[in-house]
Amino acid sequence: MSQLSGRTALVTGSTSGIGLAIAEAFAAEGANVVLNGFGDAEEIEATRTRLETSHGVAASYSAADMTKPQEIADMVAQAEAEHGSVDILVNNAGIQHVAPVDEFPQDKWDAIIAINMSSAFHTTRAALPGMKTRSWGRIINVASAHGLIASPYKSAYVTAKHGVVGLTKTVALETAQQGITCNAICPGYVRTPLVEAQIPDTAKARGITEEEVVCDVLLAAQPTKKFVGLDELGSFAVFLASDAAASITGTALPMDGGWTAQ
Ligand code: NAD
Repeated sequence: MSQLSGRTALVTGSTSGIGLAIAEAFAAEGANVVLNGFGDAEEIEATRTRLETSHGVAASYSAADMTKPQEIADMVAQAEAEHGSVDILVNNAGIQHVAPVDEFPQDKWDAIIAINMSSAFHTTRAALPGMKTRSWGRIINVASAHGLIASPYKSAYVTAKHGVVGLTKTVALETAQQGITCNAICPGYVRTPLVEAQIPDTAKARGITEEEVVCDVLLAAQPTKKFVGLDELGSFAVFLASDAAASITGTALPMDGGWTAQ
């Protein structure tokens, strides 16, 4: 029997990038999965059915917008009704905007704080009562190396990710005796659409070429000089959801090719 069979994992922002890789890794270990995020309806449906047929699990999809607390509450309730429980919650949805702080658009600030930080509060408060009833739960927050250190021009993102690390510690302490763990994964650069999209803006903000952004800005901070692999993140999340990780809670775990060691 696969190690997560019988569990249900809800992964926010799992129509793309890291969230999709984590959802797929959970399905491969036998967990039912709830996908969430934006994108082309046909592509999302194709992903959902692929997960079901490839891994023999139940996969559902919620279009809930992570800026809307009521939609988040409804998403968790719907997942519990459809699958019986939400045992593993992965808060992964996120966006980025790159600009100097004194030119940072207010609407972008509000959206980044809502999606990258506050949504983790809203999902956690909705999923925790069920986890407490069953005395088992795993909350995995996809923070960032930017939850531990800062870079210029990313004020909202760095603020939100530091906030997620604070929420992670608090939830871990509140649930420590209830069979629930809460941890943050802090990836360095992973080549996903989110990273691709910020290359032109970073080039503009710093007055350099896009190639220079990849070599001298993104991977300059990463001593391995390699992007972190999506498969590595999936495996790490599966480990944190396993019984072997029962004593790991309240941590912010870098997966960053040595970036935050400097
Ligand atoms: P991505 O752009 O590939 O995926 C983001 C996902 O979030 C998508 O599924 C998108 O539809 C969803 N999303 C965006 N706004 C949403 C909203 N309002 N409601 C619901 N879903 C929404 O990005 P990614 O690189 O896979 O990033 C995933 C997470 O990993 C983010 O929290 C990001 O900050 C974090 N992260 C990424 C990197 C990296 O280098 N890519 C590094 C560290 C941390």
